[in-house]
Amino acid sequence: MENQTIIAEDVFGKNGQLLDILTYPNPILKKVATPVEEFNEDLKTLCENLLHTMYMAPGIGLAAPQVGVSKRIFVMDIDFDREEVTNSEGKSEYRITNTNPLIFINPVIKNKNGEILFEEGCLSVPGIYEQVKRANEITVEYQDFEGNQKVLEANETLAVCIQHENDHLDGIVFLERLSLLKKNLLTKKYLKKKKKNG
Ligand SMILES: [Zn+2]
Repeated sequence: MENQTIIAEDVFGKNGQLLDILTYPNPILKKVATPVEEFNEDLKTLCENLLHTMYMAPGIGLAAPQVGVSKRIFVMDIDFDREEVTNSEGKSEYRITNTNPLIFINPVIKNKNGEILFEEGCLSVPGIYEQVKRANEITVEYQDFEGNQKVLEANETLAVCIQHENDHLDGIVFLERLSLLKKNLLTKKYLKKKKKNG
């Protein structure tokens, strides 16, 4: 059954468009993204579309290069609930609740501390999950979509997610954070599966 792209909770992203997510090894995923210089309506729309696409996937983070836009932007919501429900017309829709959308523009990670081993996955590398070692505590400086300068201190899941998404802006997918042996093994597995699924 085809799902309608509806987000029930009135969250930024509700009225966004569903974008196609590029999968590894698409060359755009390997490019270093460029900084955002213009804070205009187009940027706001892109952020809204990114959040919408992330909620529908579903995923907890999505970076602009993953939808083919090589700009230093990612969005995130590490703890929302998504439920598939049947609406009054008998159609299937998604009800998203407990949202806390975050938007990071031109992020810079500072003050990395500690270590955490966390199982990561990626919407651009579907079906592959592996433990990655990251800093447990970070400070990230970034801008919101109006260009205001912000600072956020994050740890654990949020810190891991920010580091994962920030890597996308530098053309790095999480497979490249693994040992060479694991990277080769999982890349082979992934590409074989991808070929099989078309
Ligand atoms: Zn990813």
